[in-house]
Amino acid sequence: MAQKKVALACSVCGSRNYTIAYSPNRTHRLEVKKFCKHCGKYTMHQETR
Ligand SMILES: [Zn+2]
Repeated sequence: MAQKKVALACSVCGSRNYTIAYSPNRTHRLEVKKFCKHCGKYTMHQETR
């Protein structure tokens, strides 16, 4: 079975730069600061479904 994945999208330009394994234990949207190659800097990335 394929593991369910969610994307992390840059909150500035909206590009989906990362995919992570979906965790059913999380109740809120994951927000992490990651490097966005489109923006050329670290930005907040939000989980998308
Ligand atoms: Zn960006």
